[in-house]
Amino acid sequence: MKDSLKNKSTNKLPVSHASNFIRNIVEEDNRINRWGGRVETRFPPEPNGYLHIGHAKSICLNFGLAHDYKGICHLRFDDTNPEKETQEYVDSILDSVKWLGFDWGEHLHYSSDYFDKLYEFSEYLINQGKAYVDSLTIEEIREQRGTLTKVGHNSPYRERSVTENLDLFRRMKLGEFADGRHVLRAKISMASPNINLRDPVIYRIRRNHHHRTGDKWCIYPMYDYTHCISDALENITHSICTLEFEDHRPLYDWILTQLKTLVSCHPQQIEFARLKLTYTVMSKRILLELVENKLVAGWDDPRMPTLVGLRRRGYTPESIRMFAERIGVSKADSWIDMGVLEDCLRENLNVRAQRRIAVLRPLKLIIDNYPDSLEEECFAPNHPQKPEWGRRILPLSKTIYIEREDFMEEPVKGYYRLAPGAEVRLRYAYIVKCVNVVKNSSGKIKEIHCTYDPDTKSGTSGAKIRKVKGNIHWLSSKYAQKGEIRLYDRLFSHPHPESRDYTAHLNPHSKKTISAFIESSLKKAQPEEYFQFERNGYFVIDRKDTKPGRPVFNRAVTLKDSWGKRK
Ligand code: ATP
Ligand code: MG
Repeated sequence: MKDSLKNKSTNKLPVSHASNFIRNIVEEDNRINRWGGRVETRFPPEPNGYLHIGHAKSICLNFGLAHDYKGICHLRFDDTNPEKETQEYVDSILDSVKWLGFDWGEHLHYSSDYFDKLYEFSEYLINQGKAYVDSLTIEEIREQRGTLTKVGHNSPYRERSVTENLDLFRRMKLGEFADGRHVLRAKISMASPNINLRDPVIYRIRRNHHHRTGDKWCIYPMYDYTHCISDALENITHSICTLEFEDHRPLYDWILTQLKTLVSCHPQQIEFARLKLTYTVMSKRILLELVENKLVAGWDDPRMPTLVGLRRRGYTPESIRMFAERIGVSKADSWIDMGVLEDCLRENLNVRAQRRIAVLRPLKLIIDNYPDSLEEECFAPNHPQKPEWGRRILPLSKTIYIEREDFMEEPVKGYYRLAPGAEVRLRYAYIVKCVNVVKNSSGKIKEIHCTYDPDTKSGTSGAKIRKVKGNIHWLSSKYAQKGEIRLYDRLFSHPHPESRDYTAHLNPHSKKTISAFIESSLKKAQPEEYFQFERNGYFVIDRKDTKPGRPVFNRAVTLKDSWGKRK
């Protein structure tokens, strides 16, 4: 197998057999031996932000294809716009792709590696009469470009001679002109029905420090020009991009056709529908604003749709890959409900997370007839379907904590948990009956008193098989420890926040920090360990704010999809 996907961790990639239109193209190409059996794809992020869940779809698609067809997937930074690009973004992108479980092997590339070649190719285009230096301003060029219904106009500089064009272009490179004074344009047709073919700009003067090439260049190639050439230089077979590039494909093909004597590879551009996910935003501009305006605590805030954010939230690489597989790839734009992503996480954490108990909003419960000095061991399985994972001891004593919401002084219809006179089972322990409610001077419930039935201990042979409907979790007050828990929820309360004033749709309840009671062994939990807190959801130990002996738990997802019903 090619190196592109050797990941030795548990995070191993299975081969996918799901079919989609891109796989059909690849299989047909292989059948007719179009590329000699090669499948070479690339993921081409611009290092101007952190990767988000939409990028993950593209990563899984490109690396996944290479994996499944024993090909190669390159990671290429499309770094032609130095103004907004930084090394911090490069580093985070490398880290996120690796974390998702993919390996580019030796195929890490940067468009900036090709700056010399790209420049050389432009001189070639000038020599072929296929490019010219235009001295109109960018605004004038825009005005002359025409519209969907009106053809464009030729620039007065369009017929400059090759010699004059070469001279001007070289002097552009040497820095003789101010930013914006000239541009290099491809000479195609101002009358083309496709606006992208109306003599697109391919080079501009821009005095920006580049994070890799420093101040070597003061002219930078445009994306459309750079992208197809980078693909060709890297021998890409299938250049997969999102639908908005469909209208750019003729330009992609035009450029490579002009250069066919210089680069023989002409990859096939294939477009697919980008991921649109409800209750979140994926615009890099908005994500940056959320961070800069401190509406979230950073790019890796656990509510962000960034991969660093999802990771802190408790998303596993497997759950994200499962999501990408489940939503599939198509040509048709559609919305995916956030619940689909959350379900993938539930499914993955259900099999991998050990069970523990945490009491999030504690209420003291005293078992009146339980001897003061008695302590008993109760046993709780670490995973209900995996006896091989063992069990742990939950010590029971006279005073315990239960969840406040597991008691109702005046129970509503259908409420089967504790209420005055009612019985419930304390999980892994006894059946208790509420006999008294003690309030403080302001009328707030301070503690409740119960009696227990000593013949009903769970798991004891001969224990009375007496069934009660309610089954609640608890922790002994003597052994429970305090722990910080962050209850995260969706960042937006509107399914399509991007289409409106998104700040008005921020969910005011997306983060609540509480001090809860946890099993004492959890004090030693390590960053990125996952747990299911019984009845309370899936949690991960925060990888950033956890200190030794002071774990911070992030709620990854609730146990069931209760969006809209949550408090
Ligand atoms: P921009 O180009 O506006 O900065 P972008 O989201 O396209 O933003 P890139 O860094 O260019 O960011 O994206 C890298 C790759 O990820 C591209 O091939 C792009 O098509 C793909 N991609 C970006 N967003 C999505 C999405 N929502 N769904 C699927 N693929 C996406
Ligand atoms: Mg892009």
